[in-house]
Amino acid sequence: SKVLLEVKNLKKYFYVKGGVLKAVDDVSFAIKKGETLGLVGESGCGKSTTGRTIIGLYEPTAGEIVFDGEKVDHLSYEGRKKFARRVQMIFQDPYASLNPRMTVGDIIGEGIDIHGLYTGKERMERIYELLEMVGLNREHANRFPHEFSGGQRQRIGIARAMAIEPEFIIADEPISALDVSIQAQIVNLLMNLQEEKGLTYLFIAHDLSMVRHISDNVAVMYLGTIVEMTSSAELYANPLHPYTQALLSAVPIPDPKVQKKRERIILEGDVPSPINPPSGCKFRTRCKYAMDICKEQAPPLKEVASGHFVACHLFNK
Ligand code: SF4
Ligand code: MG
Repeated sequence: SKVLLEVKNLKKYFYVKGGVLKAVDDVSFAIKKGETLGLVGESGCGKSTTGRTIIGLYEPTAGEIVFDGEKVDHLSYEGRKKFARRVQMIFQDPYASLNPRMTVGDIIGEGIDIHGLYTGKERMERIYELLEMVGLNREHANRFPHEFSGGQRQRIGIARAMAIEPEFIIADEPISALDVSIQAQIVNLLMNLQEEKGLTYLFIAHDLSMVRHISDNVAVMYLGTIVEMTSSAELYANPLHPYTQALLSAVPIPDPKVQKKRERIILEGDVPSPINPPSGCKFRTRCKYAMDICKEQAPPLKEVASGHFVACHLFNK
């Protein structure tokens, strides 16, 4: 299938007290129609900023965002409105993003109203349909967000996103705040909707545990840059970057034989400040393989095997 979203050399810098925060520093990737890219990294690595810049909440500092063959960075008002019809965002904390004073029906109906899709009885029917689509029911339309559990609230957030029939959804840590048992349900719901509607996802997460099931490809970010990117199957079978290996070692594996082979790697220290990142490879302060060259040169993201990209001097030969 064809590429729906292409991000080229995207940079998003914030000018803050004490310097320049390079939240997104030369990030490139593409997502094909109907596929999911998992974007993974610790908090502060720039994954949310990447999502927010794509959807237009931030102006990019540099680079290009191409959606369905059209440049969507720096759009006109009309262009932005057209793009907004095709892209939606799902947030980490559905409670914070749902207006507590609005009924669930009106929360879901907001997008329908803004884009003038349906009115009156048709609008209500559409809201009921959306509630059922996400595993809730029509009686829920008259209730308020606080009457629901965390998992149900995320279902409401998903129904709200689905209301305008988007083609592309950016899910910013949609399951991080939920109990593990509920996480799988929400991931399954997102996967079913993807299959039914042909949706394309950018799925942002801080660990690799649930990303595997939903993602076709995974990109691992560290301090504003992608350090490894490949298919989900390849990443889990053959992680190459020391940071990916550490992240993956924290993911429980159902098969105890594999778990034994995969030793838990504890990352030393915290993520350095993105305002003053280490020279050369930004991961070098926490990397047990760090060499002299790692201090001097930033490793480029290089294709080391078919479709497997790594930014590490160990593989930059
Ligand atoms: Fe470690 Fe050097 Fe590779 Fe960075 S480039 S991950 S410091 S070995
Ligand atoms: Mg975030």
